[in-house]
Amino acid sequence: MKNQVYWKFGKILQRDGWSDEQFITTDSTGVITNISKRLECDVDHKVNGMLIPGFQNAHSHSFQYAMAGLAECIGQGKEHDDFWSWRESMYHLALKINPEQLQVLATQLYSEMLDHGITQVAEFHYLHHDKDGKQFQNLAEMGERLIAAASAVGMGITLIPIFYSKGGFGRGPGPEQRRFICATVNDYKKLCEVSQLSCAHYKRAKLGLGVHSLRAASEDQIRDIVDMNTDGRPIHLHIAEQQKEVTDCLEYYSKRPVRWLIDNFDVNSNFHLVHATHMDTSEVNQLAATGAGVVLCPSTEGNLGDGLFPLKTFAEAGGSYSIGSDSHIGLSPLEELRWLDYGQRLIEKKRNILCRDQGLESGELLFHQTYKTGTRAMGKTGTENYFEVGSELTGVVIKDELPLLQATSSKKILSTLIYSYGKEALKGTLVAGAWHNSVETAAFKNLLGELKNRF
Ligand SMILES: [Zn+2]
Repeated sequence: MKNQVYWKFGKILQRDGWSDEQFITTDSTGVITNISKRLECDVDHKVNGMLIPGFQNAHSHSFQYAMAGLAECIGQGKEHDDFWSWRESMYHLALKINPEQLQVLATQLYSEMLDHGITQVAEFHYLHHDKDGKQFQNLAEMGERLIAAASAVGMGITLIPIFYSKGGFGRGPGPEQRRFICATVNDYKKLCEVSQLSCAHYKRAKLGLGVHSLRAASEDQIRDIVDMNTDGRPIHLHIAEQQKEVTDCLEYYSKRPVRWLIDNFDVNSNFHLVHATHMDTSEVNQLAATGAGVVLCPSTEGNLGDGLFPLKTFAEAGGSYSIGSDSHIGLSPLEELRWLDYGQRLIEKKRNILCRDQGLESGELLFHQTYKTGTRAMGKTGTENYFEVGSELTGVVIKDELPLLQATSSKKILSTLIYSYGKEALKGTLVAGAWHNSVETAAFKNLLGELKNRF
């Protein structure tokens, strides 16, 4: 392979906006060595397209992809369907999947994410033990399978081993949760130590920390885990996704979930609260002031009937937010961003409600905000610009031959992409200077046949 590879892009998006006709030089490992307006030698790859950084998927439970589209009817003997009945189906699936199957499933899923322009995923990983609930000989067996899947397709992964010890506020776990449980925080520390070693084998893997939810751990346990975080890792937890969680928390702690968390912990920018759907106005304002990020997953939240996050108020208070595909009922980050905004428009019965300044494009605002907070949720320090000397040439190329995009001024490209297009507008995804190729689906088809769950 050549020592230097020369690329030309129609446009590239940097943090401060678009630049036309840019040349990027990479070394043989796909690391950028130069970005310039001019090049004195022949180009190796002339890309007719617009390069943007890859999307950050800040919340994923890979195994749930195998049940996408399967819980769309009311179960027998049920009067209605909701999050809690969906959860029964999810538990049923969680008890079936072995390590090899998880790797196959995640490889397919991550490959499809790359097809959609996602280049980094945070795995909120709680499927730790074998089907009987016993520890694997390798404590990080299942997490290692996720890292292997990411490595196979070039996906960046932030593995977040999740602490999960209870079945509800003040209640022990149920047998259906046996694969998730760490009996003690010490067990969790050991799991994190082994997981850290697993991450060390793949250069695009990082380790985060996480607690499943306030209902899945005691106050002391949460405190011990927060105290473990001496090196500024992201800490993820589900919170206030369902109204019932708020009611249960009020009953147990006499406070709403987000209120209780803020009052009892030094919530800061390392925290990433997943969903946080149900907050009162004082919770919204105070959470925004802590600097914590919120991870919003509009397609899953819509699918599960969670409710709508008060994004307008949160954003007005200066809150930070990212997106995730969570259960993977949808995989398109463009759709997540669009619905993040449309949900608010439908509540307010107004348009462009996230923009506080005249002339600011909703598409630009959504893209930059979710990228910035998304990289933080991954535990990345982030770079000054999106493409920089010393970082890998990783990003998504948008087709510039599509008539709408071709005729659009730079200022309106992201809005046109987010509000008017899906995957068909993407020319391809680059990972360290190599085009992503979709994986063969044979292994995944076999796996679905083995699971026998899609009837
Ligand atoms: Zn989740």
